[in-house]
Amino acid sequence: MPMEVLARTAQALGLPLNPQQLQQFEEYYHQLIAANRRVSLTSITDYQEVQRRHFGESLAVGAALYRAGVLKPDEGARVLDLGAGAGFPGLPMRIVHPALRLTILEATRKKTVFLERLLARLGLEDVAVITGRAEAVAHEPAHRGGYALVLARAVAPLAVLVELALPFLEVGGFLATPKGSRAPQEMAEAGRALTLCGGRLASAEPLPSPALPLTLVLVEKIAPTPATYPRRPGIPAKRPLG
Ligand code: SAH
Repeated sequence: MPMEVLARTAQALGLPLNPQQLQQFEEYYHQLIAANRRVSLTSITDYQEVQRRHFGESLAVGAALYRAGVLKPDEGARVLDLGAGAGFPGLPMRIVHPALRLTILEATRKKTVFLERLLARLGLEDVAVITGRAEAVAHEPAHRGGYALVLARAVAPLAVLVELALPFLEVGGFLATPKGSRAPQEMAEAGRALTLCGGRLASAEPLPSPALPLTLVLVEKIAPTPATYPRRPGIPAKRPLG
């Protein structure tokens, strides 16, 4: 059976994968490895490690969000994966939860070219891909305040991420970001960014992750974000609100 490690991980998360989904993940793996020779997409290339660290971890994020009630079964929530790289965590979640209305935002053109080709091969043309920086796209009316959920893995420290992500959310929406051992420190440092951008820490729970210990940090948007945020490209990371 293809994707045996992933199948077991998903089963344990309460997400039995059907043969078509397993085939989609198998194709995803082969496309990732083939493209990785030209474009730097991932340092993890081992078949089982990709299943654990990329696919499994992404599905664990999704499972935690359904359990927390941030996502509801079969509801077509508008979801943005900010800085998705090769598509994580949003794309594995979309393969397993077809109702999600996923938009992928990624600054590097070579990566979005990969993603567009991959989506065509997987038959997932309804997933939108935007090449651009969050600092710019978040000011476009079509995207500002329009999402129920922003996902971001390994993109920036929480204080920076809050400035980049909250402008995309509707009030009542959530930012969900898996964090490693620095989670407590990043949360402590994000206080001012949260106040300025209209967010509050909603929860930080251990993720039943198949690989490394992770905490899923959830930020709720409780007030509109002032139009000054995010600041110009590069500034949020260079001078974090804090
Ligand atoms: N989320 C993926 C990729 C992490 S690497 C994963 O977990 O595997 C971070 C990615 O975010 C890079 O591909 C980078 O190009 C993108 N990125 C960083 N800052 C960004 C910004 N301000 N706007 C859009 N994309 C950004």
